[in-house]
Amino acid sequence: MARLLDQILIIDIEATCWDGPTPSDQESEIIEIGLASLDVTTLDPLEKRSILIRPERSTVSPFCTQLTTLTQKQVDQGVSFSTACAILKNDHNSRGRTWASYGDYDRRQFARQCEALQVTSPLGMSHINVKNLFALANGLSHEVGMAEALKRLDIPLEGTHHRGIDDAWNIAHILAVLLTRIRTDEAA
Ligand code: AMP
Ligand code: MG
Repeated sequence: MARLLDQILIIDIEATCWDGPTPSDQESEIIEIGLASLDVTTLDPLEKRSILIRPERSTVSPFCTQLTTLTQKQVDQGVSFSTACAILKNDHNSRGRTWASYGDYDRRQFARQCEALQVTSPLGMSHINVKNLFALANGLSHEVGMAEALKRLDIPLEGTHHRGIDDAWNIAHILAVLLTRIRTDEAA
């Protein structure tokens, strides 16, 4: 698959979760894929999108709704995980593009669920961990959360934290600042 370097896809997933351990009869499953794209030439965040996914082996707990605002009723209207993967591949050329997420959770959860459901991953091999990059770029001794990174950059947190669509959009802005800095230093 030829690599496309026109856009970076920023992905932030939300999954079913509980206040404490996962109940023995359930499994944490992706209920939202939030996606934003960054134009590599201009470093402008482009579109943002939410793909809601119907969980099959778990339900949305009150704790999960409190965290994400997502309800069982909302995700019941969602698509299957394999359809969501097809949307990423077909509408966003996700296999050929570099993708980014904040931390390693999204990459690991995606791989786990693809493996469990025997779905070929729609995500390419080129992944940027923005959380790690942010800490390294700023010489921090430890990684910081997304809200803290925005605060340090004086960028307002837009939308609802812990909704995939808004998290992805905010992460796109963090990545845009980091890449702008790299390019500016190169030009100096
Ligand atoms: P985030 O991108 O930070 O909104 O988190 C992604 C997913 O991680 C959420 O949808 C939850 O499944 C899980 N998660 C995040 N924070 C917590 C928390 N405090 N307790 C339990 N699960 C969490
Ligand atoms: Mg999130």
